[in-house]
Amino acid sequence: MTTVAFIGLGNMGRPMATNLVRAGHDVRGFDVSPAALEAFGAAGGTPAATLQEALAGASVVISILRNAHEVTELYCGEAGVLKLADSGALLIDCSTIGPKAARTVISAAGAAGFQMLDAPVSGGQPWAEEAKLTFIVGGDRTAVERAEPLLRNMGQRVLHAGIAGNGQVAKVCNNLIACVSTTVVAEAFVLGKKLGLDHQTLFDIVSTSSGQCWGLTTYCPVPGPVPTSPASRGYAPGFATNLMLKDMVLAVTAAREVDASLPLGDEVVEIYKKVVECGYGDRDWTIVAQALESGLYL
Ligand code: NAD
Repeated sequence: MTTVAFIGLGNMGRPMATNLVRAGHDVRGFDVSPAALEAFGAAGGTPAATLQEALAGASVVISILRNAHEVTELYCGEAGVLKLADSGALLIDCSTIGPKAARTVISAAGAAGFQMLDAPVSGGQPWAEEAKLTFIVGGDRTAVERAEPLLRNMGQRVLHAGIAGNGQVAKVCNNLIACVSTTVVAEAFVLGKKLGLDHQTLFDIVSTSSGQCWGLTTYCPVPGPVPTSPASRGYAPGFATNLMLKDMVLAVTAAREVDASLPLGDEVVEIYKKVVECGYGDRDWTIVAQALESGLYL
């Protein structure tokens, strides 16, 4: 049994922390939202009233917050984790924040004497509920080995991407591929329908042809062909458009920092800004298909 401080009990954090409780760990959860704390308590966890209370006696700290600003504040702020955590605690941040911010925080953690990993996750809330996430981890192998048993209580796969920050590199590259490819699948369905082909017929043909991809056969952006996709469930997230836009901005920002050219990535950022302007920020990001069908670019 490990004593874990789990920070950030939102859509992803609450089920992840709950799976650690189920695996028999002593988990003190902290969130700035009273509703999130209450939900964690109702799920059998131990809610902590303050960050300090959560960290006291914890040998592992796991966090999953929305963005780089929140993560930097949590770890490096005046009364942050680097000031309050027990010496020797292993720090694991599972948020998607891009390589630059992750490396800055991990370097500050190292200077304060802590081992720290970036471990962003692939898979949304249903995968978190069922402990089927994939952790994409950057950092020292010794720290990865220390983290792995706990990560396996929350996920199916632990992939070591290399040095600190490399988990974030792999994560933003993965989401760039998923987002760009699924967006063009949405475009193809709009085009097919306007040219007289119904969605199911197009799906049946393309899913066994060279256009086959994850964004078609698993996460199909139009309702019907894949009953489990968010599109077939009224575009309930899933993964909110706001978060996908954040991840695409992380990808194109990281690209600028190393002079990499991402013309498709840049264009997709503009598309998702428009989807958010349409009022779809909280719906699943594949609602881009509906936005395009209703004339987003006309
Ligand atoms: P969320 O908004 O549901 O949860 C974030 C939680 O952090 C909130 O409850 C918020 O109150 C809390 N929080 C913020 N600052 C805090 C602080 N200083 N101390 C304690 N708690 C604090 O977000 P989410 O959907 O769980 O996503 C979290 C991260 O996981 C994001 O980086 C996202 O990109 C990534 N992610 C999400 C999904 C998904 O499907 N939702 C999938 C993969 C990766």
